[in-house]
Amino acid sequence: MKYPDTFQVKPGTTVKLSRIDADSTGDDKDKTAARDELVTLGERLAELQELMYAESKRSLVIVLQAMDAGGKDGTVNHVISSMNPQGVTVHPFKVPSTEELAHDYLWRIHKVTPRKGHVAVFNRSHYEDVLVVRVHGLVPKKVWSGRYDEINAFEKHLSDNGTHIVKFFLHIDKKEQLERFKDRLEDPTKHWKIAESDYSERERWDEYQKAYEDALSKCSTEYAPWYVIPANRKWFRNLAISRILVKALESMDMQFPAPSADIQEIKRLYEAAVAETG
Ligand code: AMP
Ligand code: MG
Repeated sequence: MKYPDTFQVKPGTTVKLSRIDADSTGDDKDKTAARDELVTLGERLAELQELMYAESKRSLVIVLQAMDAGGKDGTVNHVISSMNPQGVTVHPFKVPSTEELAHDYLWRIHKVTPRKGHVAVFNRSHYEDVLVVRVHGLVPKKVWSGRYDEINAFEKHLSDNGTHIVKFFLHIDKKEQLERFKDRLEDPTKHWKIAESDYSERERWDEYQKAYEDALSKCSTEYAPWYVIPANRKWFRNLAISRILVKALESMDMQFPAPSADIQEIKRLYEAAVAETG
């Protein structure tokens, strides 16, 4: 299987989620081997992020979208955590505040796009404005249907200004969601994660899948591709996302900056200090 191409939504193609097996683990069958590879990939991710931080010319946005219990938090916990927190910020986007609603829907997103050298992870994102907003009819169709082009233009603007964008849809099926709801119910330490809306939203599963299909089909571009990750198996989800992120960062061809200090002179100062210290 070729990464990152395998799971990438090719620009201009139409996604049909029911045709993508959420149980798939691609060519990877061995969970133990996957764990080892995940450690290696995590180390590589950390190196590449440090390089981005040092270079300070480009930035990275990672968008995570999924149905409830789809694994967004788990991805942050198991994949993003390998990077240095000094250069990474995770932004969860919840129901917009009064202040946020008083602005255009991209305002709260643009405010937290990463500075050069930094990574921003969007746990939910501007895509909610063509997902939950569409499914619940929070704005008229003529408003949300214009947003795909607006989102593409916004992401193009970010990309043209040095922000690399990678978007993941964590694809679970309806059965897996119920399993995860059950796990949450059975574990008192997970009860805080349960919302009544989990079940009312689940009733709108098909409408959400349709809304996702449109977002994935209309907004996967060369400059901000979507990846549909089979995510029923958490270990595979983490592996696939890590591989894609490593490829994405490697493709940016970043360089450590030239030292600002005169290294020969610093070496002389160092030798002198060693001699003096004895
Ligand atoms: P959670 O991610 O489980 O903490 O839930 C956050 C909730 O905020 C979800 O139900 C989202 O659908 C909702 N949400 C996020 N963005 C928006 C938005 N732009 N408009 C309405 N609801 C939103
Ligand atoms: Mg939730």
